[in-house]
Amino acid sequence: MSSTSAIPVLTYHAMNVNGVDYADNDHVALAADLAWLHAHGWRIVPLAAAVAALFEGGAALPPRSCAISFDDGSWFDWHDLDHPVYGRQRGLAGILRDFRDRHGVAVHATSFVIVSPDARAELDRTCMLGLGWWGHDWWPAAESEGLVAIESHSFDHNHHTLRATAQKDGRTGRFDVIEDEATADIEILHASRWLDALLPTRRTRLFAYPYGQSSAFLREDYLPRRSADHGLVAAFGTEPRMMRATDSRWNLPRFVCGADWRSTDELARLLDAA
Ligand SMILES: [Zn+2]
Repeated sequence: MSSTSAIPVLTYHAMNVNGVDYADNDHVALAADLAWLHAHGWRIVPLAAAVAALFEGGAALPPRSCAISFDDGSWFDWHDLDHPVYGRQRGLAGILRDFRDRHGVAVHATSFVIVSPDARAELDRTCMLGLGWWGHDWWPAAESEGLVAIESHSFDHNHHTLRATAQKDGRTGRFDVIEDEATADIEILHASRWLDALLPTRRTRLFAYPYGQSSAFLREDYLPRRSADHGLVAAFGTEPRMMRATDSRWNLPRFVCGADWRSTDELARLLDAA
């Protein structure tokens, strides 16, 4: 059997609920994309299995394998929620279960979560709805169910709406400004250890750079040099192309829904062209 040397990673933001149509609601988009992928012979594999196949000598994956990731780790990843403007939203995990039950095929996603509870509580007020929908109550349940893996999207995202972040110069709203050991230790090492303490049956192994941005210090120095400490095996940016074994494992590409495609037709073109 032939195996694949290129795997697309499709990324969704569950908090992207700005309407009820595909182009402005990632819940609508994910449900449509899963159906389209299934109808066109794609199979969904865990992101960790894709990384293992390409970079760790793991089991090879057949052609038309793709992986799914979610970013930021709010309740919209997991719970069904009544949005005050756009009504009932099926959580992304529920959409995965609906798809699995309808088609009888395996499905999986990896949720890259903002780890710090204080940062999430503040972000819930500053850039979400302020309804307390960014707790981590669901992360242990997700891990035990096995449908959604929890991985790291840094400690505080160096987010520009936070009063303070690990980055001490006040340069927030970017992640390529993380260029020193002490800040990286908080954003990456401490974030992994916090997740490992909350979810002790697994280890944090994957990282997604906030804003898709990384510094040369992180890619070329900190992440490879400190791998024994942080335990990560790969880190993802948002360069829009297929993931291949020839890529650097510390800056792997992902496609982002809403930025790189806005309909199943555009997804089809992107996967054909990639
Ligand atoms: Zn993010």
